[in-house]
Amino acid sequence: MNGVLLSSPNNPYGSRPGGGISLPDYYRPPMSISNRNVYFPGTEVLPKNEMRISFLGSTPFPPTRLQAGTSIMVELGNGGPQPRRFFFDLGSGALKNALAMQVPPALFNDIFITHLHVDHYADLPYMHPFTAWMGRFEPLRVYGPSGSRPELGTNHMIKHMREMLVWHEENFDAFPIAKGYEIDVTEFPWDADNGIVYDHDGVVIRSWPRSHGKNGAVAYRLDWEEADLSFVWTGDGRPDEKTAEYAQGADVFVTEGQADTPQLQSITMGMSQEMVEYTIDGWHSLYYGAGYLFEQVQPRMAAICHYVAGGGPIESEAMSEIRAHWGGLFMFTGPDVQVLNVTKDAIWHREAALPDGAAIASLDPRWLVPPGTELPDEMQMPTPRIPRADQQDASLRDMEIDPHLYYPPDVERDQVSKWPEEGITIRPKEMLKARGIDIDDDPTAD
Ligand SMILES: [Zn+2]
Ligand SMILES: [Zn+2]
Repeated sequence: MNGVLLSSPNNPYGSRPGGGISLPDYYRPPMSISNRNVYFPGTEVLPKNEMRISFLGSTPFPPTRLQAGTSIMVELGNGGPQPRRFFFDLGSGALKNALAMQVPPALFNDIFITHLHVDHYADLPYMHPFTAWMGRFEPLRVYGPSGSRPELGTNHMIKHMREMLVWHEENFDAFPIAKGYEIDVTEFPWDADNGIVYDHDGVVIRSWPRSHGKNGAVAYRLDWEEADLSFVWTGDGRPDEKTAEYAQGADVFVTEGQADTPQLQSITMGMSQEMVEYTIDGWHSLYYGAGYLFEQVQPRMAAICHYVAGGGPIESEAMSEIRAHWGGLFMFTGPDVQVLNVTKDAIWHREAALPDGAAIASLDPRWLVPPGTELPDEMQMPTPRIPRADQQDASLRDMEIDPHLYYPPDVERDQVSKWPEEGITIRPKEMLKARGIDIDDDPTAD
């Protein structure tokens, strides 16, 4: 239906003078948003039955100032300030962008990895101990494929990632962590054939294998039943028949792409043309192939993630290759961070306005009790497991310069150099009051 060559003047969705030749009627802002042109994180409540997709990063390599490593955040609206979140891949720099998007560290969870190339999970070891330290007292949930041998699967990667983090985790065990270091890994068969890998509270996520140079790369499709909305991220790989079948009719379909310009890439990258061709032809999708898949899948929005934003003639070439097969709604997902709001009636794209400096969402003590539980007047922080004194020679503390020598006398305070024996008690209602938050507000509010 939407297959139309670039040279055709017809809009595949129907002729609308002044409406472009690739844009449908449903490409318009949904009623929920507060600014039509820019997404300002933390300023919009995502309504029930509305999906928001944020491309936290979109490059394989190199990561650049414009594009972090590949990562897609899918948020499902619940009418509260903290929607239900899923993360698909977590490349280098994605964490930085997620925090700038006001994702509270304590609520950073449910990470689905398409395969174990490091450009798809580089920020996992960085994120893990710090979000535990910032109040994620529950286990991290990670989903990913097995491999042909046990050591090629997600379980193995996570186990050894934690071994890599031993020094860090022990050091932070002088802080309250509770169950924050535990990782619940759901490793599913890499060759699951549209198999269900997640099925909770009306959201089903399926996976199927992809051809990416080695067994163990998968695609994901998320179906949100109540809203009747779906999202597909293929991860890396060659255009394939299973993807054409299982991604059928997805509201938003995202795959990877690169231009078929190996002779130019050999000049710009300094690699031989054969090496470039070998990499593309065994591992990746050309834009021709991506456009062909779009035409097969017929999504409401087709997108390319995991690409190098070239600008100039190469970007134009990329678009032309896609348009050789696909005439419908399309976007590139960089530079960071592009945001899509999706309802049954509307799809709308904006770029996020992000702070360059640190501006993270603060911990809300209401997240420390199970949803629906009444907030107590007092809460005891979890007890640290390995006191500082047990993991550091006393000589290192003894060599510290006496604070008395550098503190101005009128501001000097007692040093909290060890965790108090009676523990630390927080008073959630007072904490919230100090922030001007009425405790009768929505319990998921920031
Ligand atoms: Zn990749
Ligand atoms: Zn890959």
